[in-house]
Amino acid sequence: GATINAASIDSLSQHFPLCMQNLHRELRKNSHLKHFGRLQYTLFLKGIGLSLEECLVFWRRSFKLIQDDKFNKEYKYNIRHAYGDVGGDANKRGRGYTPYACQKLLTEAPPGPGQSHGCPYKTFSVDNLIQTLQATGVSDRDVLKGVREDVARMRYHIACNRVFEYAHKAELKKVKDENLWPAAELDTILHPNSYFKRSFLLKN
Ligand code: SF4
Repeated sequence: GATINAASIDSLSQHFPLCMQNLHRELRKNSHLKHFGRLQYTLFLKGIGLSLEECLVFWRRSFKLIQDDKFNKEYKYNIRHAYGDVGGDANKRGRGYTPYACQKLLTEAPPGPGQSHGCPYKTFSVDNLIQTLQATGVSDRDVLKGVREDVARMRYHIACNRVFEYAHKAELKKVKDENLWPAAELDTILHPNSYFKRSFLLKN
């Protein structure tokens, strides 16, 4: 398998669901992410198998405009905390916090100005959502129409699964035709980390 380290996140981001792609893009654009976005993204990165050490390297390099002492004082603790390296109650120690599922991302407080957390299928205006999907290579009119309908019905994760199926159409066909995966592994995706894992396995 591929190495999962600070330097490989840019290339691995092709397997990320839109929520995490959005955070990654905002991070690259601004060299910064606000608290809830950082937390959402840190836990996701932990979920894909990024070690605490590499996660610290990733954030330190990404926050290009921030000096080491500010980084160490204001950001490092929260990253270590998410991994369970410091703080928290005893049962979280050593384990940290669980990466957020779609359900949580769809029900938490929506992002305010300058914030990028949450699920874009819910938080973006439909036009911005469609443009963003087109920019990531989703060009099929029927798929985009389906996304519009899903979103209008507030079936956000269905829209996300529709995009996943489109983006992995050939690979999914092969897996189904040749019965390569147990049916349960093709169930509706309900977690950003499942989206990543499934995409990664299908494309590698
Ligand atoms: Fe992320 Fe889930 Fe929304 Fe997809 S449905 S973008 S995985 S939060």
